[in-house]
Amino acid sequence: MTGASRGIGAAIAKALAAEGWPVGVNYRSDSAAAAAVVSSIEESGGRALAIAADVSEPSAPDELFARVEEELGPVLVLVNNAGVRADNLSPAMDDEEWERVLETNLSAAFRMTRRALRTMIRTRWGRVVNVASVAGQRAAPGQANYATAKAGLVALTKTVAAEVARRSVTVNAVAPGFVSTDMTEGLDERLLELVPARRMGTPEEVAACVRFLVSEEAGYVTGAVLTVDGGLTA
Ligand code: NAP
Repeated sequence: MTGASRGIGAAIAKALAAEGWPVGVNYRSDSAAAAAVVSSIEESGGRALAIAADVSEPSAPDELFARVEEELGPVLVLVNNAGVRADNLSPAMDDEEWERVLETNLSAAFRMTRRALRTMIRTRWGRVVNVASVAGQRAAPGQANYATAKAGLVALTKTVAAEVARRSVTVNAVAPGFVSTDMTEGLDERLLELVPARRMGTPEEVAACVRFLVSEEAGYVTGAVLTVDGGLTA
C-alpha cells in the first residue's frame, strides 16, 4: 500500500496486517516511521516490508510491484493512500503546486491500479481501495489542486470498478473528512463546528472502513465511496 509510513496509511497497514495480509509499506522519505510500522506489524505476528518509492514517479509501480512480488507474493490488494497538499488560492497557485498534487494524489493511483489489475484480473479476485477526501465532494477554497485530484480519484474508482467487476475485482474509495494526522496539524479548531460529531476522526476509524472494503464480505460493494467524516457532508 502507498503512503503507509504515517497517519491514515500506517493505520490501514496495521489493520490489514491484523487480517493476515502481508503488507508492503511504501513511503517516500520517512524511513524511520516506515520501519516503526513494519516493527509494529511484526511484533503482532504479521509480515511487512518497508519500500521507499516516490509514487509520483511513473517508474514507481514497476519497482514497487517487483519488490513486493519477490518478497511477499502476488498483490491482490492495493490501497492508494499516498497524498500531499500544496494549498494556495487559485490565482496564486503555480504549475508546480498543481502538478505535484495531481501527480501524487491522482496519476500515481491510476498507474498503480493499472499495474495491480494485471494480476488481479488473471487471479479473478482483487481489491483496490483509493483514499479520496470530502474535499473532492464540496468546495474546498485554497485546494483547487487537491480537490480536483480527489474528485478525479472518485471518477477513476467508479470507472475502473465497472471495467473489472466481472472478474470479482472490486474498486472502491473512502472519503475521510478531518482526521488527526500530520496533514491536519494546526487545523483551525473552529472548523470542527462544521462537523456534526464535533471532533476529528482517527486514522483507525478510516482503516476500519478500508478493512471492510478489502474483506470477502464486501464482494458485492464496488464503485462505492464510503464517507468517513462525522457527518460533515451529510
Ligand atoms: P500524512 O500524515 O501526511 O501521511 C502521508 C503519507 O503519504 C506518508 O506516509 C508519506 O510518506 C506518504 N507520501 C506522500 N507523498 C508520497 C509519495 N510521493 N510517494 C510515496 N508516499 C508518499 O497524511 P494523512 O493525513 O495520513 O493522509 C493520507 C491520505 O488520506 C492522503 O491521501 C490524504 O489526502 C487523505 N486524507 C486525509 C485527511 C486528513 O484529514 N488527514 C482527510 C481526507 C483525506 P513519507 O512520510 O515517507 O513522505
